[in-house]
Amino acid sequence: GSGSTGTDDSERTIAGRVDSQDSTVSDGENADPRCTRQNSVSSVSQSLREWDIPYDELDRGEVIGKGRFGIVYSGNWHGHVAIKELRMDYVNDEKTLEAFKAEVVTFRKTRHENLVLFMGACMKPPRLAIVTSLCKGRTLYTHIHVQKDKFNMSKTIMIAQQISQGMGYLHARGIVHKDLKTKNIFLESGKVVITDFGLFNVTRLCHDTRRGNWLSIPPGWLCYLAPEVMRSLRVIQKPDDGLPFTPYSDIYCFGTVWYELLCGEWPHKGLPPEAIIWQVGRGMKPSLANLQASRDVKDILMACWSYQPYERPEFANIQITLNKLPKKRLHRSPSHPIHLSRSAES
Ligand code: ADP
Ligand code: MG
Repeated sequence: GSGSTGTDDSERTIAGRVDSQDSTVSDGENADPRCTRQNSVSSVSQSLREWDIPYDELDRGEVIGKGRFGIVYSGNWHGHVAIKELRMDYVNDEKTLEAFKAEVVTFRKTRHENLVLFMGACMKPPRLAIVTSLCKGRTLYTHIHVQKDKFNMSKTIMIAQQISQGMGYLHARGIVHKDLKTKNIFLESGKVVITDFGLFNVTRLCHDTRRGNWLSIPPGWLCYLAPEVMRSLRVIQKPDDGLPFTPYSDIYCFGTVWYELLCGEWPHKGLPPEAIIWQVGRGMKPSLANLQASRDVKDILMACWSYQPYERPEFANIQITLNKLPKKRLHRSPSHPIHLSRSAES
C-alpha cells in the first residue's frame, strides 16, 4: 500500500531544490530498506517498477496533438487517459533513458486537485510514454488566445488562485515545473488542472541539437523566460547544459499567465524575438500599456516579474495577495474601453 506513506519530513527537506532532475533519488522512501543512498540507481529502478505500464496494455486512440515532447494520444487504460509518447529518434542511449526515468520518479510524488493525475509510464525502449488522466476541458491558452474568452475579475482571481495552489504544492515537494504556460493549464468546468510539470528535461532529450547553428524557439515560449533563464540561452544549446529553471523562474511564468488572464494577449506583443531576449535579459519588463488595472493587480505582476529571482514572491504569498483583491473591481469603466472590457462574461 502506498496511499498514505508519501509525506514524511525527509521529503520536505528537498523543497526548493534548483533542479528536480536528480532530486528524487533519495526522497521519502527512506523507510523502505531497499532504498539506500549507496544504491540510488537501483532504488530508482525498484520504485519505478510499480509505475511501469506495459505498452501493450494501452489502448491507444486518436492523436490529440503534437508538442515538443512528441505525440499526445487519447487512449484507454482503466479509463480515459492521455498518452504522451516520446519521440525515440534521439533517445538511444542508456543515459538518456535514465534521465527519463529520473523524471518519472518525480511524478509519483504529485497528488493535488489542481495537478494532472500521473498514472504511470512505459519505460521500455523503443516505447517511452507517460500516461496521465485525460483533461476534458480546454487549455487557458485556447480560452484566452483562440476563443478570445473574457473572464471577469472574480473568475480571473479564482483561476489564478487555483494555479497558485497547485504550484505551491509542487514547490513544497521540491518540484520545479519548468514549463508553466497557459498551454499547460486546463480549465475543466471551473477547475484548474496543471500539466507537464518537470517534463522540460525530457523535452530537451527529444531535440536534435546537432543539426545547425540555430536556436529553435517555440512560438510563445520567450515571454515565459525569466531574465536569468533568458541570459543562459545559447545558439547551440547542448543537451547537457540545462537552462537554470528554479522555483523563482516558475513564479516569473505565473506573472506571465496572470498578464495573459488580465489582458487577453501575450506580453511583448509585436516585438521580434531578438528584441524580447535583449530587453528581458537587460532587466526591462514588458510594457503594461495595454493593462488598465488597479495598483494591487499590477503589483502582483511586477513582483512576479522582478529581475532578481529572490525578490519574486512565493506562491503562498501570492495566494494571500490574490485573496485580498476586490473581486468586483471590474474593468467596465468607459475610461478603460480597450482591453479590459473583460467583464462581459460572468
Ligand atoms: P503543448 O503543451 O506545448 O501544447 P504538448 O505536447 O504538451 O504540447 O501537448 C500537445 C497537445 O496535447 C495539446 O493540444 C495539449 O492540449 C494536449 N494535451 C496534452 N496533455 C493532455 C492531457 N493530459 N489531456 C488532454 N489533452 C492533453
Ligand atoms: Mg503541454
